Amino acid sequence: MAANYQAELVGVLGRPVAENPTGVMQEAAFAAAGLNWRYLNIEVPPERLADAMIGVRAFGMRGINLTIPHKVAVMQYLDAIAPDAAVIGAVNTVRREGERLIGENTDGKGFLRGVRQDAGVDPAGKRVVILGAGGAARAVATELALAGAAQITVINRTPERGEGMVADLRANTPAAVRFEVWRGVYRVPADTDILVQATSIGLYPDVDGMPAVALDDAPAHMLVSDVVFNPPETRLLAAARARGLPTLDGLSMLVYQGAIGFEMWTGEKAPEAVMKKALAEALGV
Ligand code: NDP
Repeated sequence: MAANYQAELVGVLGRPVAENPTGVMQEAAFAAAGLNWRYLNIEVPPERLADAMIGVRAFGMRGINLTIPHKVAVMQYLDAIAPDAAVIGAVNTVRREGERLIGENTDGKGFLRGVRQDAGVDPAGKRVVILGAGGAARAVATELALAGAAQITVINRTPERGEGMVADLRANTPAAVRFEVWRGVYRVPADTDILVQATSIGLYPDVDGMPAVALDDAPAHMLVSDVVFNPPETRLLAAARARGLPTLDGLSMLVYQGAIGFEMWTGEKAPEAVMKKALAEALGV
């Protein structure tokens, strides 16, 4: 291993961060690319975020990731926010332009890369149903809308959250966006091209969790995707596969959001296969 002297620093600020798997894949990518970079998991409580951001500047860190609870709070300490991150309302990645810190959101972009590369689907002109209206749903919906999705239907249990998300999408993207409250079983319409499960249903330890949706009307080409990556084979994806529908798991989104971060920081193409392997090993899947 190269000496730490003059290593370039990146990392994640959050609490908790001990189990955060992103560093494992970034370090594997740096090693594969021959870069003397280090990725640090740094535990920062909410009341120390301002100090931590001064530290990021003082150390000349090349970039950072933000996770719970800092994705929104960090925005006040940055010099600029990318337009898509502004619509999403959260920043998960910071990159440096000279002395300026720029806020980005790579979650939705990572999802999009998975749709294109792993599922072979171009979202332009597609009709999308998104389950959920939290941070992941907002990121995915914003990028799909900016990529030209024709129609986005947001389904959420809590109406206020869903309506707020739809209002933001309508104001800032060209997509036709509508909202439906999630009551009972939602029948996914027959004209849907992409279904996105963007709630935390099915996330470990809730591995038996299954969103209340009926896939009976789904067309044979409908892509069923899930943002939950632990476990990657959610009950929803298993049900979709059993019907012969194409699927896309949350690992794909997680790998590609990291790959996009790597590219923003280093300016080099990410070694995606290396990152995917390192992540799968770290998660034991
Ligand atoms: P939030 O807390 O911001 O949002 C949670 C969403 O799930 C809300 O829409 C909430 O609805 C809904 N929800 C939760 N439980 C239920 C339930 N029992 N029935 C119906 N709706 C429910 O979480 P995030 O958006 O940040 O995260 C969601 C998931 O996305 C997590 O599993 C996370 O791990 C994953 N994720 C994956 C990434 C990846 O790279 N693969 C990246 C980021 C997140 P309501 O508004 O009604 O409460």
